[in-house]
This record gives sequence, structure tokens and C-alpha cells, in this order.
Amino acid sequence: MDVSKYLVKPGAAFDPAAWPTREGDGFAGGKKAAKKTLAALSGRLGELQARLYAEGKQALLIVLQGMDTAGKDGTIRHVFRMVNPQGVRVTSFKKPTDLELAHDYLWRVHAHTPARGEIGIFNRSHYEDVLVVRVHNLVPPEVWGRRYDHIVAFEKLLAEEGTRIVKFFLHISKEEQKERLEARLANPKKHWKFNPADLEERALWDGYMEAYRSALERTSHKAAPWYVIPSDRKWQRNLLVAQALVETLEAMDPRFPHVDFDPEAVHVE
Ligand code: AMP
Ligand code: MG
Repeated sequence: MDVSKYLVKPGAAFDPAAWPTREGDGFAGGKKAAKKTLAALSGRLGELQARLYAEGKQALLIVLQGMDTAGKDGTIRHVFRMVNPQGVRVTSFKKPTDLELAHDYLWRVHAHTPARGEIGIFNRSHYEDVLVVRVHNLVPPEVWGRRYDHIVAFEKLLAEEGTRIVKFFLHISKEEQKERLEARLANPKKHWKFNPADLEERALWDGYMEAYRSALERTSHKAAPWYVIPSDRKWQRNLLVAQALVETLEAMDPRFPHVDFDPEAVHVE
């Protein structure tokens, strides 16, 4: 499986409409095989996380973005199911509070970046400040327009100080979103997930795609690349995210630290 084909190359154009929201049924050997592979990848993620924590030198920040129902929660649940919850911290960014709005938009974000040894997952992120904020004109264009450069600079700072960053745009089609919203309405256990305001966001679909286009074109840089994950099929989405994360952590190559005593010479009474 070659996940590099889902990367937005730094400086390249990005047109959401030209990128797939699903692969074929035979992708990665089909759904059944993919589920097995996912289990193995999640186990491998667990091992790598244990090393990262023991080493305590590097951090990993994962950014998840996507339209409503794209599967940000589901991705976290499935991909990290074999990972020790103690080593992972999920932060969900909601509408900013008054206190958060009284600061610059990166203030609340920086407070939740992972410490050395940790994996931090952002369920939504600072990108909302160039997505929902842009689509709803919450600040003037000259204000959000400056933010792409801030964001790249912020991510470079994190990277240079020891945080690896990977960003995923969970790409679904408008038709798939319709089916998922209808499924939420049809299932009493999913009613709580439905928010009538989601329909207003859906009506702004094209504006969001334009905002995603600018965001991914302007902020996919070497220190923090964007992957565009076809997400109409959950099993394909989970598999691709897991594969990209295993590759990222393997490249980080975290190692158990050397100890400065001879374990064989220690006698436990
Ligand atoms: P959910 O992910 O369904 O829990 O919804 C969270 C909501 O918070 C979404 O509608 C986001 O667009 C919104 N949100 C997150 N960050 C911001 C932000 N910086 N400014 C405005 N709205 C935001
Ligand atoms: Mg929602």
C-alpha cells in the first residue's frame, strides 16, 4: 500500500474535486483483508507508542479535519484501539469560548500540543480558523488571510522543537454525507450525533471545499504534510490513516533508552 500517493506535495495545487473519496472494492485485498491488516497496524502502533513514551524525546501530533460525518471520531476509535490510552491525548476543538476568543487563535491550540513522549490527536484544530471562520466570515478576509503563514510558522516551530506533525483531511463526497446524516436520523442511538446546524454547514459545501483547497495548498509543508484520505469507505479510511501513522512513527525511530546500570548485576531481595 503506497500512502505517499495521498500526500499533497508542498507547493502543489490542490483541487478537492479531483481527489478520490473512495477506492475500489478490491483495495488492499478487499474489506476482509483490510480489517486484518488494520488490526496488525494498530498493534504495531501500540509498540511504537510504547517506545516513543519510553524514549521521551520526540512527540507526534496528528491533526484530523473533515466535513461533518467524515469520521474523525471513528478514525480515532479504530486506529488507536491497540494503543495504550495513557500515551495518547485527544483534544477536540469546539466553538471557542469567550476566554479563548480573548486571545489569539493559536493560544488554545498551543496549550494542547503533545509533550515529548506523547501522541497528541487534534479532533478539529487550528485549521478551523481558516475553514469555518472563513466560510462564515467570522473575521474579515485580511485577518484569516494572514493565518496560513502563521500556521506554517507555528508548525515549523513545533517541528524544530521535536514534534512530528501529520495532518489528515478525511475526504468524503457530498452524497456520502447525505447517507450518513440520514443514518443518524434513522437510528435512535445516533440521534444525539445529529445537529440541525449540520444542514446549514452542508448547504455551504462548496465554500468549505474552497477553504480546504486554500488550506491544503498553503500549509502542506515538509515539516507538516497533509494527506487526503478517501473516506467514503470507513475500512479504507482507517487502513490508510493507520498505515501513514505507522510509517511516520517508524521514520521517527523511537528507541528504548539505555540504562546506566547492569541489570544482571542487580539483585532483587
Ligand atoms: P463537532 O466536531 O461536531 O463537535 O462540532 C464542533 C463545532 O465547533 C464545529 O461546528 C466547528 O466548526 C466548531 N469550531 C471548532 N473550532 C472553531 C473555531 N475556531 N471557530 C468557530 N467554530 C469552531
Ligand atoms: Mg458535528
